[in-house]
Amino acid sequence: MKPRINIMWFRRDLRLVDNAALYYALRQGIPVIPIFVFDRNILDTLGERTDRRVEFIYKTIESLQTQLAGMGSSLRVFYDKPLIIFEKLVTEYGIEKVFTNADYEQYALDRDKSIREFLRQQGIAMHIYKDQVIFDGREVLKDDNTPYTIFTPYSKKWKATLAPFFLKPYPTTQYFHNFFKQQAQSLPSLEQMGFKATGDAFPSSVVPEQLIKHYAQTRDYPAIKGTSRLSVHLRFGTVSIRQWAAKAKELNDTFLNELIWRDFYHSILWHFPHVRRGEAFKKEYDAIRWRNNEEEFKNWCKGQTGYPIVDAGMRELNATGYMHNRVRMITASFLTKHLLVDWRWGEAYFAQKLLDYDFAANNGGWQWSAGCGCDAAPYFRIFSPAAQTKKFDPELKYIRKWVPELDTPGYSQPVVNHEVARQRVLQVYKQALKQ
Ligand code: FAD
Repeated sequence: MKPRINIMWFRRDLRLVDNAALYYALRQGIPVIPIFVFDRNILDTLGERTDRRVEFIYKTIESLQTQLAGMGSSLRVFYDKPLIIFEKLVTEYGIEKVFTNADYEQYALDRDKSIREFLRQQGIAMHIYKDQVIFDGREVLKDDNTPYTIFTPYSKKWKATLAPFFLKPYPTTQYFHNFFKQQAQSLPSLEQMGFKATGDAFPSSVVPEQLIKHYAQTRDYPAIKGTSRLSVHLRFGTVSIRQWAAKAKELNDTFLNELIWRDFYHSILWHFPHVRRGEAFKKEYDAIRWRNNEEEFKNWCKGQTGYPIVDAGMRELNATGYMHNRVRMITASFLTKHLLVDWRWGEAYFAQKLLDYDFAANNGGWQWSAGCGCDAAPYFRIFSPAAQTKKFDPELKYIRKWVPELDTPGYSQPVVNHEVARQRVLQVYKQALKQ
């Protein structure tokens, strides 16, 4: 007879502690088999075979496996398309229910719809929980039940809605005895999945309290370690957003606001499917006549624009998979405004390179920079790389780290003159927006 079990399907919630779906799965009282799928629908589209994200997930999965083996259980890890895996699992086990946490990106929504339908045909219920955000798109709305599109009023309502209940951790540990007992199973290797390790070290998920306390004073300076570096952990759920929002609430309101931006952009995706499909939030901006010069785009990607702060940022991204937020704004503004390259090109490049790549935050950041996003600065506000450098990297420490040839004749000439670019973008935007 097939063993009667429930399934916990991990996706971007890769932890055993304070995990909503895992808590509800374990509490049912019948054995829970945890699974993870290296999804070929996603992996097969990745051009680069040394992908830091895949490596980060892999290391995390190894660690989960060790923790579960310590309890006499095992994670079942697959490398295939999720539907194929579920077709297999129903033949092996008497599955009662499948538990998982919500993922709000378009691919994930489509995937979950098809898996839910397949399971329904087998008489198996799929339960999906909120875990990735504090509030999903339905929970913070204007009084007339329409979505916010401006951050400040959204954040006020977010804070007003935040009862202690929303930050309460899910006490999974007390139900760990309900994991299905089985021998630890082996994982497919990175190489079997066609990837190579980079050997990179990943940011720690332990952040000193002092850093959070001083966050408002330090967060804008890329030369110092003044931000949390939690983005990859929040992206893959190796830390709990509830735990960090609680800490932020206690220690620093500016830091809490950054976490609220994260919910805000998720809420935008939830309510505006055209954004999920890659269109400008403000549709009239799709009339902009981008120059899309491929040579200039390549120089931007490589960090060879002749604008030191832009080049430093792009080189940091290429070398580490990370870029400081201030510099993300400067490089994104430069690409869209100075070079008049469609923001989607930059969005796609960041998506390929960022370790913390998240559709909602990345799309939100790019649309904000290009001026077409919800709550974006007016288009005629154009970042001056020189002024930004003076303010945020006055001793050129960050720049010199990534552009060591700065003062030598070997450094690139500016790809465009700042004032010429400023006039050009004003004209092009004005024409498109008929203002
Ligand atoms: P901290 O400053 O310590 O902030 C704490 C956390 O708050 C971050 O880890 C992140 O989860 C959240 N956060 C901070 N700022 C934002 C923001 N503006 N929007 C949404 N969440 C925020 N962030 C991503 O997580 N993934 C992306 O793909 C991404 N792409 C971006 C692209 C552009 C063009 C821009 C301008 C910003 C982008 N951001 C993205 C937001 C931000 O730059 C990063 O979250 C931040 O730099 C990560 O470093 P940190 O963890 O030290 O952040």
